[in-house]
Amino acid sequence: MPKVKIRKNDQVVVLAGRDRDARGKVLRVQPADGTAIVERINLVKKHTRPNPQKQVQGGVLEREAPIKLSKLMVVCPECGKPARMGRRRLEDGKGVRVCKKCSATLSS
Ligand SMILES: [Zn+2]
Repeated sequence: MPKVKIRKNDQVVVLAGRDRDARGKVLRVQPADGTAIVERINLVKKHTRPNPQKQVQGGVLEREAPIKLSKLMVVCPECGKPARMGRRRLEDGKGVRVCKKCSATLSS
C-alpha cells in the first residue's frame, strides 16, 4: 500500500475529474480503498423515499462519494498552495509532513 500523505481535516485540492480545482476539507480517509471523502467534493444525488416512521423526509440528498487519493493534493495551511509533502522524523521519533514549497511542517 502506498504511503498516504493525506489526513483527516486536511485542506485538499482536486487535481482531476468533475471537481477539478475545487477545494475542500477531508472528512475521512479510507486507505484500504485508496480513497477519501472530502467535504462538498464529488457529490452524488441520492434519492430517498419518505419514511414517516423514521422521520425521514423524501427527496434528493446530496452526499459525498469517495474520491481517489491520487486525484487529491494537500493544500499547505501556511502558504495556501497545493504542495507535495515530504516527510521528516523529529528527535522524539514523531513523523511530520513538510511542505516542499515553504518548508512548513504539518502534523502527520
Ligand atoms: Zn507551504
